[in-house]
Formats: sequence, structure tokens, C-alpha cells
Amino acid sequence: METEYALACEELRAAPRRWLVTGAAGFIGSNLLEQLLRLGQEVVALDDLSTGRLHNIEEAVAASGAPADRCRFIEADAADRDAALEACRGVDIVLHQAAMGSVPRSIEEPLATYACNVEGLVSVLDAARESGVQRLVYASSNSVYGDSTHLPQMENRIGTAQSPYAASKRVNEMYANMHRRSYGVELVGQRYFNVFGKRQNPDGPYSSVIPRWIGLLLDGQPCRIYGDGRSSRDFFYVDDVVQANLLAATAEASATGAIYNVASGDPTTLNELFGIIRDGLSRTRPELRDVEPLYEQLRAGEIRHSYADISRARQRLGYVPTHSLAQGLERTLDWYTAH
Ligand code: NAD
Repeated sequence: METEYALACEELRAAPRRWLVTGAAGFIGSNLLEQLLRLGQEVVALDDLSTGRLHNIEEAVAASGAPADRCRFIEADAADRDAALEACRGVDIVLHQAAMGSVPRSIEEPLATYACNVEGLVSVLDAARESGVQRLVYASSNSVYGDSTHLPQMENRIGTAQSPYAASKRVNEMYANMHRRSYGVELVGQRYFNVFGKRQNPDGPYSSVIPRWIGLLLDGQPCRIYGDGRSSRDFFYVDDVVQANLLAATAEASATGAIYNVASGDPTTLNELFGIIRDGLSRTRPELRDVEPLYEQLRAGEIRHSYADISRARQRLGYVPTHSLAQGLERTLDWYTAH
């Protein structure tokens, strides 16, 4: 039997639409762009290149095999109203990914986080309304669960935000909800958990753990685990974020106006994660076989366990994760080794 996702892809191929992907030069945005182009869609890609790279867009276009003129790139801040209006012109569906995505960076730069994440979304919401966009799907985050200790994390049981980043994502959800009620644009929020895959930036002080560890191991550098390594997270492969976005973008109108967890639904400890990455890399780099992480003191404010209940997305969007952690990591390691 065909999955909902396969049906959605078929439907899009048969009747292409015009999309705006904000944050398209970043990790998730460029993976969305690649799949949309592969499905024959026309895409406006907006990014201010603050953390993203033009190379990611070029690589996504090349990998899709689509003619380059099906993607138009606009270099601009999503919070710039004129740029947002220009980007939304003639667009059917917006996938809003642009944000400053790091919790520690948000603690150091709360004003910039607000300007980017809150003003950025409000600007895109307003431009979408004015341009007659039919539907807008936006990236929220599992950080909105904050200090809630309820597991698995369910959409209607959030805690108090623990960082400017988490607060900005919660405010995004409130604005989106208000906007839907006041103006009638179809809106879907997606709380991503810990996404990994190709084109995720391994460098810099704010990089995520999977690309950082891959980069460190390939460079022969030590990897640090804060705490005893038994903390867990819900790591999942980027193709499943792409799936969730396209399902949300094409779902019946009755599935909009909601927020969905997007994740694998399974916890993985940091020790397990380190072992899978090290064993995967040591297939081609045998000298890594016996490498162990360095354990350091748990950092203040770090949550111990996080994993999602994904039943709402399963039931209402037909979301079914397609890659186990091991499968996703195998693809990811191949990509980083080749790049
Ligand atoms: P990323 O940093 O790779 O991509 C974000 C992109 O947005 C970058 O290309 C950046 O240049 C661009 N950008 C930032 N501010 C902008 C602005 N004001 N105007 C235009 N472009 C701007 O991050 P990502 O991991 O791809 O994250 C995408 C979205 O998913 C973000 O909203 C993030 O908060 C959310 N998210 C990601 C994860 C994850 O595990 N990667 C988890 C939860 C939520």
C-alpha cells in the first residue's frame, strides 16, 4: 500500500506548485529545496546567509537534477518586510525555516535571537497574508517543552522555556495561532526534535552534536560528553523532516491549525550515539575503532531526557519515519566522508 507521503509526492508531481523556502541555504532548508526541485516544483529560496551557505543551495539544485531556473534565490533578512513581500509574490505554500537555531548562542545574543526568530516569522506571516499564500508551515522546536519532565513529550504538555531560543519558538507558535484565527491563512507548526543529515554544519561553537563528533573523529580530535552519557535525545534523519513538511503542506485543511511533534519517537543515549558514529566511521578508518569520548561535568540547565510522542503526526498527517538512527547515520557518515 502506498504511504501518505508517496501519495503526496505523486500529487505534487502531477500538479506542481510555487513554494517559498526561508532559510534555504541552511541544513534543513537546503534538503527541503532539493526534494521540492526533484518533485518538479518551482521554488523561491530566501536566506540572509547568516549561518547558511550559498554552496548548499547550489548543491541542492545540482543534486535534484532540476534546471537551475526553477529555483530563484533572494539574499535577504526574512524580517525585512519588502524582501518578504517580494519572496511571497505568487507563492502557494511557504516553508519557514529561517532562524537563529542555537540555544547557547541565544543566551549570548537574546536581542538578535528575538529580531531574527520573532520578527522574522511575523514578517513572513504578514507577507504571506498580504500575498494570498494558501498555507504556511513553520519550524518550531522541542525546546518549547522546556522544564517539563513528562515523557514522551506530547504537544499539549509543554513546560517553561529555558532559553531565549525556546521562548522565541513558543512566541512563534502563539503568533501563528493568532494569525490563523485573525486572517485565515492555513498554518501548521512543527516541533522538530534533534535532526541530523547531510549539509548540517560541523564547524563553529554552536554546531550540533552529530556533525561535530563526525568532524572531530575524522580530524583525530577528542569528543566530549557532558555527564555520564546516559542522557537521551530523539535524533532523527533529515529526510523525515522533509517528509513531515510536505505532508503538512499537502494535508487536508482540517489537519492545519495544529502543532505537530516531528521526530523518531525513540530515545537514544549519547553513549549509544557515540558508539554508532565511531563504529560506522571505523569501517573506513580502522584507527578509530577503540576511541573513547571524554566525559565532563553535566552543563547547567541541560535536560536529561527528551523524546517525542509522534502519534498526532502519524494519525493526522500520515507521518511515518522512514529511517532508523543507524540507517540515517550510515547515509550521513557516507556524505561527510565523501565531502
Ligand atoms: P541552519 O542554521 O542550518 O539554517 C537556518 C538558515 O536560516 C540559515 O541558512 C541562515 O542563514 C538562515 N537565516 C537565519 N536567520 C535568517 C533571517 N533572519 N532571514 C533569512 N535567513 C535567515 O539551521 P537548521 O538546523 O537548518 O534549522 C532550520 C530550522 O529548524 C530553524 O528554524 C531551527 O530553529 C529549526 N530546528 C532545527 C533543529 C535541528 O535539529 N536542526 C531542531 C529544532 C528546530
